[in-house]
Amino acid sequence: DNPILTPRRQTEDPDAALRPKTLAEFVGQEAARENLAVFIESARQRAEPMDHVLFYGPPGLGKTTLAAIIAREMGVNFRATSGPVIAKAGDLAALLTNLESGDVLFIDEIHRLNPVVEEVLYPAMEDRALDLIIGEGPSARSVRIDLPPFTLIGATTRAGLLATPLRDRFGIPVRLQFYSVAELERVVTRGAGLLGIGVDSGGAGEIARRSRGTPRVAGRLLRRVRDFAQVAGAAVISREVADSALTRLEVDSLGLDLQDRRYLSMIADIYKGGPVGVETLAAGLSEPRDTIEDVIEPYLIQLGLVARTARGRCLNDRGWRHLGLTPPAADLP
Ligand code: ADP
Repeated sequence: DNPILTPRRQTEDPDAALRPKTLAEFVGQEAARENLAVFIESARQRAEPMDHVLFYGPPGLGKTTLAAIIAREMGVNFRATSGPVIAKAGDLAALLTNLESGDVLFIDEIHRLNPVVEEVLYPAMEDRALDLIIGEGPSARSVRIDLPPFTLIGATTRAGLLATPLRDRFGIPVRLQFYSVAELERVVTRGAGLLGIGVDSGGAGEIARRSRGTPRVAGRLLRRVRDFAQVAGAAVISREVADSALTRLEVDSLGLDLQDRRYLSMIADIYKGGPVGVETLAAGLSEPRDTIEDVIEPYLIQLGLVARTARGRCLNDRGWRHLGLTPPAADLP
């Protein structure tokens, strides 16, 4: 496994150092940014917290960053947690009752909330209230506790992973898209400035093209390429320096790594281009189905190498060619 290209957060990622602090500094996601600016402004004018927001899209596209920006622009506290961390209903109750008026509570991986905890969240989101059961057995009774007004911001890789009642309670669903090469070039140039790394536009472009449409990957590749540049005595990362470093890191011209190529090769070699079911691929690659669907496939589909059909995954002509193979001739009618 080559973790250099995983869009999932790694502990050594310079995430915090590179995080834009304002909406104006945030690169790309034009539509989402413009809409959020309006919702923030109107909530501020009414002196009310913003409606609950759900960010969804592949890892590393800026969901956590945007949540923190919203809190900052609203002038409120940012409290962050994640679905798997909130084990019991009481944990969530403690988080909610400790909020100050207007605060943002960010729950990453909200699709991984325990269903019992989710039940507590519904009245909290809808009525800003907690329904607690006090006591046990026949003497148990339910008490309602009012909560301060707050904004819940949830993040998930796919909106479809959420139970409908939870999804419906978010007034503002926002889908994040992969970034264009031009946008990632700006992310790389900005990151280089913050980390004190010299990079020219050719170097930034090469890193951008090979970053899987994902700012987190761009930040990571920038640092790895800097290591090669430094040891080679290059003061500035040029296109040649970036290309040679990324090639040595086994990041190919489209930004695919060994894991992506194994996925493509399996469909080509074993399943003759598909269709093949995702479970079969997961078993063949010894990867959890989640990793295939959330991490590997979205970018391959975006590039048009693979298609997701009702009968399974199929390799497109472009996928065959990327492997250096000739696509099979189309069946004649
Ligand atoms: P997610 O929560 O979607 O997994 P993060 O918000 O943690 O992603 O972002 C991952 C990294 O990418 C952070 O270092 C962040 O600073 C950087 N990043 C994300 N979006 C942008 C952007 N639009 N402009 C600049 N950097 C970004």
